[in-house]
Amino acid sequence: GKPVCECNTCYQGPDCSEFISDCAANADGGDPLFLEPFWMLHPASSALLVAGWHRMSYIFNDHTYISQVLVNHIRKVHAIAKNAVTDGKYIVFGAGSTQLINAAVFALSSENSSYPTSVVATTPYYPLYKSQTDYFETSHFEFDGDTSLFKNNSEGLDVIEFVTSPNNPDGHLRKAVLQGPSVRTVYDHAYYWPYFTALPAPVDEDVMIFTISKLTGHAGSRFGWAIIKDEDVYERMVTYMSQAEMGVSRDAQLRALKLLDVMLKDDGREIFDFGYKRMTDRWKRLNQIISLSKRFNLQEISPQYCNFLNKIREPSPAYAWLKCEREQDTNCTAVLRAANIIGREGRVFNADSHHVRLSLLRSQDDFELLLYRLNELVTREYGAY
Ligand code: PMP
Repeated sequence: GKPVCECNTCYQGPDCSEFISDCAANADGGDPLFLEPFWMLHPASSALLVAGWHRMSYIFNDHTYISQVLVNHIRKVHAIAKNAVTDGKYIVFGAGSTQLINAAVFALSSENSSYPTSVVATTPYYPLYKSQTDYFETSHFEFDGDTSLFKNNSEGLDVIEFVTSPNNPDGHLRKAVLQGPSVRTVYDHAYYWPYFTALPAPVDEDVMIFTISKLTGHAGSRFGWAIIKDEDVYERMVTYMSQAEMGVSRDAQLRALKLLDVMLKDDGREIFDFGYKRMTDRWKRLNQIISLSKRFNLQEISPQYCNFLNKIREPSPAYAWLKCEREQDTNCTAVLRAANIIGREGRVFNADSHHVRLSLLRSQDDFELLLYRLNELVTREYGAY
């Protein structure tokens, strides 16, 4: 019979050309499909063909789970993006940064203390820090909420602070809130790339986490890395990875290697330029619509000097952190849902329900439909039709 093709969401009919008129704009989730068209420009050079006999072993030739060729590629990518210092530091791989977040909690929590180490973050924060820490809780660590509760940590309790910079959901560059001898800081730099933010300087912290999910856009490959200064912490992270998984899939490492290889061919110029243009264009167009509204507001991010672009640049965050300004709009997610827009509730990020997160890094189709629906909603404020 004839092959049956799946239409893109919101389209139907024999040739998928009919728009489903009441289709909702999906701005939920963090799928980074904005980069899909870039990879479509490079189908051959980014493709992998792996023979059945290839890479069957648990280990690489140097008896580790970590490809040194890939480590070197990662160092080069950071050097060309000018976003992180890797010299003299160790690199450990994880199944996405998701696994490294938990590995860091295990590696940095104190084993000799009579109290569990407190894991904290500043609101609004990425919810996985809490959900994962709760789920895998041991007698050595627990999630203890917002950093504000630990500012006067006079008892010197052991704390691990997660700092997301730029932050998910609001795109702000952040610094650690807590300091002191008993505080360990984990910097989640998933979005510290030219697409999403100005890069004021190469970051140089003790524990930094990155992921290809938001660099190449291959979220499904599940590949991330941590850059670690201290050898002891590095060893503990490696131990976690051996115990949990015996290292990251060799196939995922090969995929990451191929993708970074394409990026490195022209010093990343093409992909960074592509993503930067796309994201700044999206933010500009979204602002044009929301600036007409009295009912809704977006987070403000100041233009800032970017070390990579060598100029002051406008913001282009991965997410809009939208606020419903009216007192009575106590459920902003529902206000948007009624206008056929699916966002993620502010409360998920430990924030109030006047806030909603809208993803700006999905496919162009998703983004255009989001703008269309927002435009309808804002126009309605003026009773214009
Ligand atoms: N950290 C942050 C701040 C994120 O937003 C995400 C994904 N949305 C992750 C980590 C996890 O990414 P992954 O496991 O795909 O690397």
